[in-house]
Amino acid sequence: MKRWIQIAVGIALLLGLLWLTRDKATAAGAEHVSYTELVTAVEEGRVKEAELRAGEIVARYTDKDAKKPGGTIVADRIPNMDEQPLLKNLQEHGVKVTGKPESGWFSSVAFGILPFLALPLLFLFFSGAGGVRGRGRGVAESHAKVYDRSRENQVRFVDVAGADEAKGELEELVSFLKDPARYRALGARAPKGVLLVGSPGTGKTLLARAVAGEAGVAFFSMSASEFVELFVGVGASRVRDLFQQAKDKAPSIVFIDELDAIGKNRAGGTGFVANEEREQTLNQLLVEMDGFDPSSGIVVLAATNRPEILDKALLRAGRFDRQVIVDRPDLRGREAILRVHAQKVKLAPGTDLKTVAQRTSGMVGADLANIVNEAALATVRRNATVVELRDFEEAIDRIQLGLKKHGQVMTEAEKRRVAFHESGHALVALSVDKAAPVHRVTIIPRSVGALGATLQLPTEERYLMTTAELADQICVLFGGRAAEELVFDEVSTGAQNDLERATALAKQMVMRFGMSKELGAQTFGSGPSGRFLGNPFEVSSDRSYSEETARIIDSEVKALLETGLARARGVLEARRGTLETLATELLEKETLDRDRLEELVGRPPKEAA
Ligand code: ADP
Ligand code: MG
Ligand code: ZN
Repeated sequence: MKRWIQIAVGIALLLGLLWLTRDKATAAGAEHVSYTELVTAVEEGRVKEAELRAGEIVARYTDKDAKKPGGTIVADRIPNMDEQPLLKNLQEHGVKVTGKPESGWFSSVAFGILPFLALPLLFLFFSGAGGVRGRGRGVAESHAKVYDRSRENQVRFVDVAGADEAKGELEELVSFLKDPARYRALGARAPKGVLLVGSPGTGKTLLARAVAGEAGVAFFSMSASEFVELFVGVGASRVRDLFQQAKDKAPSIVFIDELDAIGKNRAGGTGFVANEEREQTLNQLLVEMDGFDPSSGIVVLAATNRPEILDKALLRAGRFDRQVIVDRPDLRGREAILRVHAQKVKLAPGTDLKTVAQRTSGMVGADLANIVNEAALATVRRNATVVELRDFEEAIDRIQLGLKKHGQVMTEAEKRRVAFHESGHALVALSVDKAAPVHRVTIIPRSVGALGATLQLPTEERYLMTTAELADQICVLFGGRAAEELVFDEVSTGAQNDLERATALAKQMVMRFGMSKELGAQTFGSGPSGRFLGNPFEVSSDRSYSEETARIIDSEVKALLETGLARARGVLEARRGTLETLATELLEKETLDRDRLEELVGRPPKEAA
């Protein structure tokens, strides 16, 4: 019975809290705008009254501007700002100003202390109720956020700037959702699940919502971390509920954010209750995904920034068998994103967002949105009304400082090194005879850990590779290291992965493919299970050969590697000028595609024989 008293007190306290916050709630119908927008509205003479409250300013439009909902806007007051100019401004524009006194000691004490009192009580309350397993639908019902098709502030693809490749890949999904019947008639199966992979803040959630917006279908979104809550069994039933809602509204999208929160590889389980819960939830998700008919018009989207830890079962055919990579934006992408967000603030005419984009290398969409906001705040701080380049500069400095602490942005020196490293790979690839064409070079950090990337696309599916082709590949792998040696006189740790791959390749040539003259056509050790070049890192270690043979293997591998490195050096020394050109442009543009590369490098005068 004591428990009931506690619960009653808890509820009373909550009601008290609600009562205390009612003051704010009156502005609930008002549109929330930025401080800058409010000031603009005042200056344009669109505001009739303004009420200065403890943390916010509520303004009412003049009658002819009262088309907005409620005709009222509310903006946060900027802490510690000199508000004299604002007041003067308000007076000059004939705005009637009212204000409430700060609410005094009582409410500040109440606000400060009540939550601390209320929390433990709430906790008691819920743990009391949770003692009954899976009790009632109340807890178990999904808290999915529904963005229905009628909602006007839908996100469209134009709101997602930059991510062109990802958008391209999602277009098919949109067309399926728009007209599932057409696919059904053809007997074509649309993908059931699509996984968006990318660093935090690259716009995965935004993209998922844009797919729903473009297709005009209902959108059920839930973060996987919300599935896994205190009580065992709740996650699974929430998943069930989520899918049920989606089925009722098909065609629709189910979006599961932060999939890794439930989708972690199950092998590593340590037997905590939280793990059991996670597993049940994951299993339910798998059941649901297998259970619905792919032609019913439901598509499951999920997002993760850690694809490597996902349970393999999730990635199997018929589940999340499609992955869309959402990359960090390059220079052009960043400029486009800045432009999208700058629409919300008043830019000084002629403000060059390209300069801002140039200074924000490595940042993602969320950072850039943040920069625009910080710039607007900086504008307010200096009591100006339009955002200028210097405000952006200040914002960048602030945000970069934060990112640097977390090691998320490269220094200029690091960028230069990566630019030369990647240019080295690209130039060697374009110069040797048998290397696969280079699709793209970039110095934007990828989600998978490498600092830059030179993407080579094989011209056709390769099942057979000749000795010369493999040798050329090794040579390309050394291109990065060779460039660093040449330009900086020393190598960095950045070349480690290249070295690993080159070594693995050379070992395979000698041990698996019988490509060594010295050892002739025989294999050594047992190879990777039947898959040709399946996993280049995999060379078996069980030895069935003599010490002597081992020594020869080693020296043959070494010879292959040394030849590769020497050739790469040769190419780069001979074309040092081109290397500099490439690196310089790469530093500036951050990404070079195939056409531009071939323009810069010219039709390769093949390696001197
Ligand atoms: P993620 O889900 O990948 O962590 P979000 O989609 O939540 O990233 O992005 C956070 C915010 O960053 C978005 O609400 C948006 O304001 C901004 N943003 C991110 N990417 C973009 C983009 N490509 N274009 C415009 N805004 C973006
Ligand atoms: Mg997200
Ligand atoms: Zn490399």
